[in-house]
Amino acid sequence: MNDCLFCQIIKGEISSQIIYEDELTYAFLDITPVNSGHTLVVPKKHSVNILDTEEKDICALASVVKKIAPKIIKAVGAAAFNLAVNNGSDAGQVVPHLHFHIMPRFPDDRHKLWSGVSMRSDELAKVAEKIRKEL
Ligand code: 5GP
Ligand code: ZN
Repeated sequence: MNDCLFCQIIKGEISSQIIYEDELTYAFLDITPVNSGHTLVVPKKHSVNILDTEEKDICALASVVKKIAPKIIKAVGAAAFNLAVNNGSDAGQVVPHLHFHIMPRFPDDRHKLWSGVSMRSDELAKVAEKIRKEL
C-alpha cells in the first residue's frame, strides 16, 4: 500500500534501524521504544491485522520472533521480553500494518501489564460456551 507507513519503511522510502529481514518479514527498532531494543516484526506483504494475514505470513512472523528475540535481549542485557500484537484500534493499534512488538524487560523497569478481575465459575462457563459455539 502506497500510503502505509510500514510499507514505506519496508521499501526503504522511510529510514529505519533494521534488525533482520528475509523474503517474508522485516524487523526494525521501534521509534519510541518502551525499553532499549524494542523491535517491530512485520510481514512484507501488507495486511492490517492478524485476522486478514495469510497463515504463511503469520507462521513466518512467529518463526522470526523465535529466532531474533533471544539475540535482541542478549544484546541489550535483558533476560525477558513481552511479545504483543495490538489488533484493532480498541486494542491500541495505531499503525494499520500488522506488527509484533518484541519488548525487552528489565527488573524494576516499572512497566505494568493489565490486571484482571476474578469472575465466578458459572460466568466463566457461560463465556466459554458462547465462544465454543462460534468455533
Ligand atoms: P501500535 O500502537 O500500532 O501497536 O504500535 C505502533 C508502533 O509503531 C509504536 O510503538 C510506534 O512507536 C511505532 N512507530 C510509529 N511510527 C514509526 C516510525 O516512523 N518508525 C518506527 N521505527 N516506528 C514507528
Ligand atoms: Zn503496509
